[in-house]
Amino acid sequence: MLADIRYWENKAKEGKYAIPHFNVWNAEMLMGVIDAAEEAKAPIIISFGTGFVGNTSFEDFSNMMVSMAKAASVPVICHWDHGRSMEIIQNAYNHGMNSVMRDASALPFEENIKEIKTAVDYFHPLGIPVEAELGHVGNETVYEEALSGYKYTDPSQAAEFVERTGCDSLAVAIGNVHGVYSSEPKLNFDVVKACRDAVDVPLVLHGASGIGDEDIRKCISLGIAKINIHTELCQAAMEAINKNTDKPFLELERAVRAAIKERALYKIRLFGDDGKAN
Ligand SMILES: [Zn+2]
Repeated sequence: MLADIRYWENKAKEGKYAIPHFNVWNAEMLMGVIDAAEEAKAPIIISFGTGFVGNTSFEDFSNMMVSMAKAASVPVICHWDHGRSMEIIQNAYNHGMNSVMRDASALPFEENIKEIKTAVDYFHPLGIPVEAELGHVGNETVYEEALSGYKYTDPSQAAEFVERTGCDSLAVAIGNVHGVYSSEPKLNFDVVKACRDAVDVPLVLHGASGIGDEDIRKCISLGIAKINIHTELCQAAMEAINKNTDKPFLELERAVRAAIKERALYKIRLFGDDGKAN
């Protein structure tokens, strides 16, 4: 069933587990993560973003996302990831997304606040929650370079940010990056803890693909309640493709869907989200 992210994120926060956010942009990914959620009786977030429009028409694919979310026996949230403008997230809402991230994290503090407040003032009357990011999780390809100029979330700004924007959840920058980590991730757990102490809204970890299981468990124990996974779903798909190159396409496609499901199941269990649908 189509579900409210606020309820499920806050339930995860109270229960000390995390709800997984899976970026999906084709049928195999979408069906694979829903298969996993059904099997694990787990609430999940399915999400689309601007980075995928070169592969998939959101305006068409959103119909499948919403339709499968509604048909699922478990709670599913349809979310827009990293909305870089109001127009983008308004379009997401108009195509059935019932949760949005407005990402102005590349802007200075005051401008970030202004942009998020504008989004919150627009979307809250529509019943749509808004995720924001403080600090900045980048897309750099060399991890050490990313860390040298890294914009960690400043916990001393977190309370003011949440208070002035009214955002419903807060993505933190703690040494995490998007994409593949070119060397071992070095997370600053003190930032998570300080943010958890500073604000009441659920905290979000982006770029979680490639972060080790122990570090993930530690993040959750310190208060992360939503975790975003994309790259590892792509890696699972690629492994399935490479193993099945001699197979007919129909069969290969099923192998990809099964591989996505397995990886999603692994993350659902790692995050402690299995069995939490009720
Ligand atoms: Zn992200």
